[in-house]
Amino acid sequence: MKKEKKLKKNKYIIIGNSIAGVSCIEGIREIDKDGEIFVFSDENIFNYSRPLISYYLAGRLKEEQLNFRDENFYIEKNVKLFIKTPVKKINTKEKIVYIDKGNFDFDYLFIGTGGSPIIPQIKGIDKIREGVFTFTKLNDAKNIKNFIEKEKIKEVVVLGGGLIGLKCSEGLIERGISVIIIELSDRILPNTFDYNASMIIENKLKEKGCEIIKRNTIEKVIGKDGIVKEIILKDGRKIKTKILIIGVGVIPETKIIEGTEIIKNKGIIVNEFMQTNLPFIFSGGDVAEGEDLILNKKSVIAIWPVAARMGKIAGYNMVGEGKKYDGMFIMNSIEFFGIPTISFGITNPPLNENYEIIEKIDYEKNFYRKIVIKENKIIGAIYLGKIERVGIISGLIKNKIDVSSFKNLLIDDKFGLLVLPETYRKHIVKGEGIEV
Ligand SMILES: Cc1cc2nc3c(=O)[nH]c(=O)nc-3n(C[C@H](O)[C@H](O)[C@H](O)COP(=O)(O)OP(=O)(O)OC[C@H]3O[C@@H](n4cnc5c(N)ncnc54)[C@H](O)[C@@H]3O)c2cc1C
Repeated sequence: MKKEKKLKKNKYIIIGNSIAGVSCIEGIREIDKDGEIFVFSDENIFNYSRPLISYYLAGRLKEEQLNFRDENFYIEKNVKLFIKTPVKKINTKEKIVYIDKGNFDFDYLFIGTGGSPIIPQIKGIDKIREGVFTFTKLNDAKNIKNFIEKEKIKEVVVLGGGLIGLKCSEGLIERGISVIIIELSDRILPNTFDYNASMIIENKLKEKGCEIIKRNTIEKVIGKDGIVKEIILKDGRKIKTKILIIGVGVIPETKIIEGTEIIKNKGIIVNEFMQTNLPFIFSGGDVAEGEDLILNKKSVIAIWPVAARMGKIAGYNMVGEGKKYDGMFIMNSIEFFGIPTISFGITNPPLNENYEIIEKIDYEKNFYRKIVIKENKIIGAIYLGKIERVGIISGLIKNKIDVSSFKNLLIDDKFGLLVLPETYRKHIVKGEGIEV
């Protein structure tokens, strides 16, 4: 990337005011103190941490505790923020974005529009006006909370036993509500975990009174006057309910680039500088598809820390810094009912290939560790219960370190920096007085 010397102030436009957009502001402002920054959000709240909406639903956190930057942030960074203002269209030739009542020109654009909930095609669902919810935004959590309180709901059906469905269930259970989860796969969290890890979380859910119906899905929603009354499962089973929450995942929110020449696959394709195929348009976060270090292909990695890093890198590069994103791979770091969990990369390798697995499990203590190795390099890991020092594992993955000389120590409680080869230790720990 070439850094251009400019005489006039740059104009930056950021679409989306969540972690990718906010990190982009920070990246720009670290270098360019004068450029004009305009941020557009279609939500009516100035910012909040999406991973915390289940704690809001649970009643554990208030709305004002969800902000990850306060209102002063936008004043300090000299940013003009427009909330309740969706960007409707981008003209990439003229470099203009359109909102309902006007348009704005830009030199550099960042698209951080995140993901939208997937709504599966279920018979009857299109006729329902009341009682069906999704769970990806704070407004979803507010709507669910209000509905539950208004209708004095005691039992909820959640479709989807993945991350979103489970986070929502956790919030509801904490409110004292009974939850029935319906999951298509033979276990919950099928994309993130292997069988052992899924079972630890499943047992915890059951302990809390949650019913989990697996290998099943909803075939039909029955309503009366547009209000949910009952759902019918694939196996014919009927469940009376006033509320159904759809939590089957998200897809990149790419509507905004329709009709432009910006290239997308599932998400908007970006290079290591977070640039799209148009060099003055950048993207990052859940809407973007960057290079996955483990899979060696472009992927959407829809997690908070990756969105933060992609946004920041884009911000630097919109000012022409030429910074590369060197390390993203699939990772999930989530707590369920007080059990901290982290998983990286390939956690469920096919049995017929040359993978080595090192693992340790204690169901009683909700403890599990698994490392997946291929050609002496770690390509995946699951940690449940005790997640200390897992950062070292992610470093070993990122730097593609040969672990053959210490692989048996990887899941040991004593595993730490001192176990690592001296050359690698020197690479990660440097400083006066530090003996490696
Ligand atoms: C319930 C839940 C729990 C989660 N828990 C975790 C967790 O524990 N750990 C973790 O790492 N990740 C978690 N995630 C994922 C994490 O929240 C996302 O990876 C992260 O929020 C992505 O940030 P983003 O800025 O790319 O997009 P988003 O946070 O999706 O924000 C995009 C913003 O752009 C706005 N927007 C879209 N289109 C337009 C438009 N045309 N004009 C203006 N604005 C627009 C959207 O309304 C939204 O405000 C969770 C997600 C959910 C839903």
